[in-house]
Amino acid sequence: MKIGGQLRKRLTADFLIRANARGRTDEMRPISAVGCDSWTYEYSAVRAALEETFSNLGGVSSFINIGDKVFLKVNLVMKKAPEAAATSHPVFVQALADILIGGGAEVTIGDSPGGPFNELRLRSVYQGCGMREAAERSGAELNFDTGSSEVKNPRGLILKKLTNLDALRRADKVINVSRLKTHGMMKLTGAVKNMFGTVPGTLKAEYHLNRPEPEQFADALIDICLCADPILSIIDGIVAMEGDGPTSGTPRNVGVVLASEDPFGLDLAAARIINAVPRTIPTVKRAIERDLCPEDFRELIYVKKGVVIGPRNEKPADRAGYEQRRAGSSKPAAGSPKPAAGSSKPASRPSRPAGRFECCGASEQAGPSWTDPLAEFAVEDFRAPAVKLVNPLSGSTVPGVLRRAADRLGQPFPTFRGDLCVGCGDCARNCPPGAISMSLDALDGKRKKADVPTVDLSRCIRCFCCQELCPREAVGIKRPWLFRVLARL
Ligand code: SF4
Ligand code: SF4
Repeated sequence: MKIGGQLRKRLTADFLIRANARGRTDEMRPISAVGCDSWTYEYSAVRAALEETFSNLGGVSSFINIGDKVFLKVNLVMKKAPEAAATSHPVFVQALADILIGGGAEVTIGDSPGGPFNELRLRSVYQGCGMREAAERSGAELNFDTGSSEVKNPRGLILKKLTNLDALRRADKVINVSRLKTHGMMKLTGAVKNMFGTVPGTLKAEYHLNRPEPEQFADALIDICLCADPILSIIDGIVAMEGDGPTSGTPRNVGVVLASEDPFGLDLAAARIINAVPRTIPTVKRAIERDLCPEDFRELIYVKKGVVIGPRNEKPADRAGYEQRRAGSSKPAAGSPKPAAGSSKPASRPSRPAGRFECCGASEQAGPSWTDPLAEFAVEDFRAPAVKLVNPLSGSTVPGVLRRAADRLGQPFPTFRGDLCVGCGDCARNCPPGAISMSLDALDGKRKKADVPTVDLSRCIRCFCCQELCPREAVGIKRPWLFRVLARL
C-alpha cells in the first residue's frame, strides 16, 4: 500500500504536472498493465496480479473507505462454465472481492444477464458461472435485487435519462469487472460495453432496437457507462475470447490484467492488446470523437511493474473539448458517423487477412525513445469476429431500394444449426426487432426439440444477440460472398 501511495503521489506531482505544463488541462488517469500467465486461474497468481494492479494505481485505500458498499459489476452474459471464457472467472472475482473486503468494503457481486431478469434466472446463472462459489469463499454477497428505476443522466449525450439497476444506487461505489472478448456487433467487449449489463434484462433489447447502427449504439453504451460511473474498471485478459465473441468464440491465452479509473482509456489500451485500430471499434471511436479518450494508446499514462511510463507524444493533443467530459459532449453519431471537429480521420491502412483485426501498426511506430508498455501482451493475430460491414451506399443519395439491396448482399447474417438447436426459444425472445420465428410450443417451453428458428432478414438489425444468448452455440454467422470480398480490401 505504501508503494502504491508513493506512486500515486509521484503521478500527481510529476507526470500530471508535467503533462499540464505541456498544455494538458485534464486529469490523466493512468492505466495499469500487469502480467499473469496462470491460464488455469490459480488463486495465488490471480490475487498477486490484482494486488500489483492496486499497488500500481495507488493502493486499495485510494479507492475504498472502510464500510463502503461496493457493487462488483461482473460479466455474466449467460450461464456458461468459466473455462469457456465468456463470463467473469470466479477465481478472478473471488480474489478481487477478497482484496476489497480486506480493505474494509462490503462487496456485492452482480450483473443483469441477457434474457429475463428475475431471481430464479439469477440463481441459475450464478451457479452455472461459478459465482456462488466465488461469493461463498470471499464473503461477498450475490445481488438478487431485480429492481430498476429511470434515472437522469446529465453526462449522457443521447441518453439524458435511462433505466438501470437499483443495486447501483444501493452501493457507494461501482467497480467494473469485464473480460477481454470480441463482440459480433461492437468488435470488443471491454470496460465500456460491460456496463450494458447495468440495464435490466430484456430492456437491453429495446436499447439495441432503437439504435441499430453500431455507432449510435456505441453512444448509448458510453452514456450507460457514464451513468453507472464506475470508480475503477478492470479487464481480465488472462484468458480472453477471440473469434465469435462474446459467447461463442475461442479462449485465447493473453496473460494481462488491465485496470484504470478511466474506462475509455482502458478500452483504447485493450484495442492495442488485440492489435486493432482503435477507430474500428465503435465504442472507442465514439469515445475519441466525444473527447473522452485520446486518439492513440501512446498518449495514455501507464504504470507497469511500478514504473510510470508517460505519454510518448510530447505534443499536446487536441483536448479543447475535454472540459465537457463530465458535462456531456460534442455531437451524437445519430446515423451520421462523422468525426467531431478537430478529430483526425483514420489513416489509410494496408489490407488485412480475413478474420483478423485491422492491424494498429503499433509495433512499427513505437519509435526508439518510447517503450510500448503493452507490447509484451499484444496478440498480433487475435482473431476478429464477423462484424457488420458498413454499407458503402449508406447515407448516400442512392435510392433506398438499392441501398437495401446492397445491405442484403453485403451484411453477415445469423444462421441456425438444426443439429445443435434444442428449441429453447431464447434467441426469439431476445431478438430486439422480433425477427426470429419459432413455433408457439417452443416459445412456451413445452417441447424439448423444436423446429430450427427462422429469421426475417429484412427486419434483422445484425446485433447478434441471438448468437450471444444461445446456450447451445447453435447460431452461426454467415458471410455473404460480397462481404468476404470487401473484407479483404
Ligand atoms: S438457436 Fe439457440 S437460442 Fe435459439 S432456440 Fe435454438 S438453442 Fe435456443
Ligand atoms: S435475428 Fe439475431 S442478429 Fe438479427 S436482430 Fe434478431 S437477435 Fe439481432
